[in-house]
Amino acid sequence: MFEHVDAYAGDPIFSLVEQFMKDPREDKVNLTIGFYFDEDGKVPNFSSVDKAKVWAADNPPASPVYLPMDGLPDYRVAVKSLAFGDALPLVDSRLASTQSLGGSGALKVGADLLKRYFPDSELWVSDPTWENHHSIFKGAGVKVNTYRYYNPQTKMLDFSGMLEDLNQLPEKAIVLLHPCCHNPTGIDLTNEQWQQVVDVIKQRNLLAFFDMAYQGFGFGLNEDTQAIKLMAESGQPFLLAQSFSKIFSLYSERVGALYVVCESPETADTIQGQLKFTVRTNYSTPPSFGARLVNHVLASDALTDEWKTELEAMRERMHTMRQQLVAKLGELRPDVDFSYLAAQVGMFSYTGFSPEQIRRLKDEFGVYLIASGRMCVAGLNTRNLDATAKAFAAVC
Ligand code: PMP
Repeated sequence: MFEHVDAYAGDPIFSLVEQFMKDPREDKVNLTIGFYFDEDGKVPNFSSVDKAKVWAADNPPASPVYLPMDGLPDYRVAVKSLAFGDALPLVDSRLASTQSLGGSGALKVGADLLKRYFPDSELWVSDPTWENHHSIFKGAGVKVNTYRYYNPQTKMLDFSGMLEDLNQLPEKAIVLLHPCCHNPTGIDLTNEQWQQVVDVIKQRNLLAFFDMAYQGFGFGLNEDTQAIKLMAESGQPFLLAQSFSKIFSLYSERVGALYVVCESPETADTIQGQLKFTVRTNYSTPPSFGARLVNHVLASDALTDEWKTELEAMRERMHTMRQQLVAKLGELRPDVDFSYLAAQVGMFSYTGFSPEQIRRLKDEFGVYLIASGRMCVAGLNTRNLDATAKAFAAVC
């Protein structure tokens, strides 16, 4: 019966992590998977979220029935304020939204919805992008193409190439954008550049789909939503996927949201119904635990302040590690320009290392990067930073 089924090659990042775990070297360094690791190399629990867990244990839901298809109503209200900040009044009346199974679930529900109502539209993603963007949209039957983004020669953004490509797209083409902390490159647009992108999207009547998995990891919760605010101001309809996996350290609870900013309250009403239908035909209704935790934190000023302080500490730590790595590399290899690493933002950096350099880093030094040369900056800490810098310097 199943003889014809192909073997799944496995996810290359998860396979690499397995290899890392089996590596007996004590000084090995894991810069592969996109987890936020703290100074001790642990994926932390937020103390604000721990308090919400205590509350949740003491206050179980009155009845263990299904949540609505589009999720916990209070949660949907709380998280939209976070996503849109002070731009919320610009979109609130024409907003449809649903709780989602993390950012991936938001992308999948959005992709299914778009495939159904824009069957001829294709998707354009940055070259490169998070690999799963390709898989999720292809899985939904949407053809995926790329627009220029990273210039391997300069190791910087190819902004003119990006604009040129977006300027060629047909009406209603879907454009996937990372509003902050681009995965995998760590290269973000300036506010002026975002404005130009928003102008092209509006002029050409394109459909932007923002994927925000790292809000607060770049410059701050508010600063990281500038692109979304500019889009909201433009009046052009767009989609937004939001993930709480990293910024609440709730990876396994699968918490996120999908927003569709429509042209009118009436269309938003219709889209709200279609979001419910899309969820119903995928997994019927979402789980409640993670959403209750996030909602509880955001409903309390004290817990929200505590969470923001914890998030800020993560952002600062990653920023410090990045700067220290670049400073150390500058001492070890003054002949090589590593300033591009310092200019990158968030949890990831594109090192620009070749497959051979990446192989040497792993085999000779026990420093693990993924094949594209992406480094998870959060894997650095004060104990492994010098060894990592020495290994990088040695393979250059
Ligand atoms: N989008 C991007 C750009 C990501 O990096 C990730 C997580 N790696 C996701 C979406 C998915 O988030 P989640 O784990 O919440 O599904």
